[in-house]
Amino acid sequence: MPYFIAGPCIDVMDKSCLEQCPVDCIYEGKRKLYIHPAECIDCGACEPACPQEAIFADWTAPADVAEHLADNERFFTEPLPGQRQPIGAPGSSGPLGPAGADTPLVRSWSSGRPRQQPG
Ligand code: SF4
Ligand code: SF4
Repeated sequence: MPYFIAGPCIDVMDKSCLEQCPVDCIYEGKRKLYIHPAECIDCGACEPACPQEAIFADWTAPADVAEHLADNERFFTEPLPGQRQPIGAPGSSGPLGPAGADTPLVRSWSSGRPRQQPG
């Protein structure tokens, strides 16, 4: 498994990591970027480039960001809100461009944590 992007990227998205990735496997949502788990080659080049320290390797990530590991994968394997098909594995983020949507977790994120759903 790969590197992944966690909550500190949300609403920042300065894209410093994009320039570092040799295989263009970092994809742009609406509020956050996501690393494709099957396309990432674990080179680690993106991690030190992130000013928010939002990028983690799955084998060293602390427990409080672990939910974003599965959520990065979900961005590609499940249809995003308002879309009928999942992104899948395009092979490169370049042709796809910004997806214009996020996973439900990121979409509902507020002040560093997901919003509480009304009971
Ligand atoms: S670890 Fe390497 S391949 Fe994976 S997202 Fe970062 S720069 Fe791209
Ligand atoms: S460098 Fe960090 S904060 Fe900037 S877009 Fe990449 S993951 Fe997000």
